Amino acid sequence: MGKRQEIAIGIALQTQALKICPIHNQLYCDDEESTDDANMARAFAVAVELVHQHQPYAEEFRHDPHELTDLLSQTIGAAPASCPGCASQRYSVKEEAGAPAAGAAAPA
Ligand SMILES: [Zn+2]
Repeated sequence: MGKRQEIAIGIALQTQALKICPIHNQLYCDDEESTDDANMARAFAVAVELVHQHQPYAEEFRHDPHELTDLLSQTIGAAPASCPGCASQRYSVKEEAGAPAAGAAAPA
């Protein structure tokens, strides 16, 4: 992972535009949150501020906040809506629990 990508992910996590699954260590953007747009806006605001006011970020992004906001929206856009690991676990539990229950409900 490149340094720029790390910075973008750090900002996304800090502003909760992206979340990380503590179990699978997998980034995702929580689509169910209605505050998504607000988090995105906050992430962009933080990104612009960092590039304007903090020398290491300014150097990394050549004093152009757009390079960071573009990367941010790419990073957030590329993240799945939920943790794939948790999603597949949830499905397999549902299948296992659902099938036997239907048959077992009729004792002879
Ligand atoms: Zn997970």
